[in-house]
Amino acid sequence: MTNHYNTIIIGTGHNGLVAAAYLAKQGKKVLVLERRSIVGGSVVTESFGENFTVDSVQTGGTLRPDIIKDLGLGTSEKNAHSTRPPFISLQPDGNHLILNEESIKRFSEKDASRWSEFVRFMDKAASILDAAYATIMPRLPKNMSLQDGYGLLELGLELRLAGRKDMLNFIRALPMSAQELVEEYFESEVVRAAIASVAIHNSTLGPMSAGTGYTLIHNWLNRGGLSLTPTPLPVGEGQRVRGIGEITNALANAVKSFGGEIRTDAEVKNIKIENQIAKGVVLANGEEISADIILSSADPKHTLLKLVGAQDLPPEFVWHTQSIKMRGSISKVHLQTNGNHGIPEGTSVVAPTVKYLEKAYDASKYGEISEKPYLEVTTSENTVSIHFQFAPYELKNGSWNMENGKVEKLAIDTLAEYFPNLKSSIVNTKTITPKDLEETYGLTEGDINHGQLMLDQFLFMRPIPGWSNHKTPIDNLYLCGSGVHGGGGVSGASGRNVVKILK
Ligand SMILES: Cc1cc2nc3c(=O)[nH]c(=O)nc-3n(C[C@H](O)[C@H](O)[C@H](O)COP(=O)(O)OP(=O)(O)OC[C@H]3O[C@@H](n4cnc5c(N)ncnc54)[C@H](O)[C@@H]3O)c2cc1C
Repeated sequence: MTNHYNTIIIGTGHNGLVAAAYLAKQGKKVLVLERRSIVGGSVVTESFGENFTVDSVQTGGTLRPDIIKDLGLGTSEKNAHSTRPPFISLQPDGNHLILNEESIKRFSEKDASRWSEFVRFMDKAASILDAAYATIMPRLPKNMSLQDGYGLLELGLELRLAGRKDMLNFIRALPMSAQELVEEYFESEVVRAAIASVAIHNSTLGPMSAGTGYTLIHNWLNRGGLSLTPTPLPVGEGQRVRGIGEITNALANAVKSFGGEIRTDAEVKNIKIENQIAKGVVLANGEEISADIILSSADPKHTLLKLVGAQDLPPEFVWHTQSIKMRGSISKVHLQTNGNHGIPEGTSVVAPTVKYLEKAYDASKYGEISEKPYLEVTTSENTVSIHFQFAPYELKNGSWNMENGKVEKLAIDTLAEYFPNLKSSIVNTKTITPKDLEETYGLTEGDINHGQLMLDQFLFMRPIPGWSNHKTPIDNLYLCGSGVHGGGGVSGASGRNVVKILK
């Protein structure tokens, strides 16, 4: 081996970069390796042609404020002062709902009167979840270490401070279905469905699935609520934000400013292991690099089954890793238009009723693309980005090479029912399917969260039961991407937490 580093980090997603920046700041000799030719992982702003630049992620929120502060990332002028764009539920008769008290009143006076109470509960529930995500989970059922104990003590205090009623309601809400939860607050089907759509966003679950109470709270946290002023994006102090990729660019700059190295076009083929100890990595071009510690921000299945391999892992651990539920089922359809699409600024959803959303999900259970999909649409200047659910990675009939066109057509046809000028405004399109998410972004089975956010893959069971504190059966090999506890979304919690374990 020619080079030696204190820590090698696999992947330049935001979590890998957060971990790298903290470690480089501590003075460690750090190298980050990325298979793509750009940094950022899932959080990138990419160009698909002249004047056709899109963000990979539209509604992922931003980094935790403590990370922004610790790494001195600064905040953007534009986002620090702007107010949140509206969240609109499109209605066939054009009487669109905006999720705020005034607009809800048009659908139900009673629901409007309960909106602020609902927002208060959701904000509180999100803050409890946030505290849990910042806490490293013990490796149950193993004995707890002193470090685990302190972390849980802090979390316990946080829960106590939340107040007994809110804490109880939070625990009660987690296993509920989103449908049950919204029915407790609202009578209007339009209002219920708009909120239920937030619960199923990015999940292969329907609003009637148990545990979508949890995903609703997770996504609420991720978006910084639906009615709050957005958290500032971390870019250079006072700069304008031009895209979500500036989050990962700012992180990459921080890594370099602290003395860390980043190499793109550097795919790790395997992790070198001797006597159950990680010693370094071998790149796809055959180059070997050694390190004292290896962190992987790639998903757990890829890291453990491909980069390590079953031969170096205990059989039961392999079985658990193989059983991680990935099940990606989203596609993105980006449209470059001449600007006359007619879609308002903000986030618009096609989610007319809870049953509509459930039926859209039903298709994915049988390996089919939803004919009547749930859509979430955002615009940025002349670009329209359509988030499409459900388009399962495993298709019953056909293959993803054949079905790309189907998703694109369904997305455009469905949206054009609300905006008749859309079709004639389209200049260029780019569709990203679950297969593209796997091949381009390196996401196993196209799962953007590196493993479904489900209650059996939550807290001390993420990524797998008994291994929730970033460690693996291989000494000196740690996981730090979205597939571990704290992950999912763009908070950077799992990249931050792993550094605490290394102390
Ligand atoms: C298209 C898209 C849309 C999304 N939309 C939303 C959204 O609206 N809301 C939301 O909350 N979340 C969304 N997400 C999910 C969210 O962005 C991710 O969960 C999160 O960004 C993952 O960050 P990460 O750092 O853990 O991993 P990633 O960003 O996935 O980074 C892992 C990195 O590891 C690299 N890598 C993998 N294997 C190797 C290897 N062998 N060698 C070298 N490098 C390797 C990959 O190329 C990648 O750069 C979206 C993701 C995508 C892709």
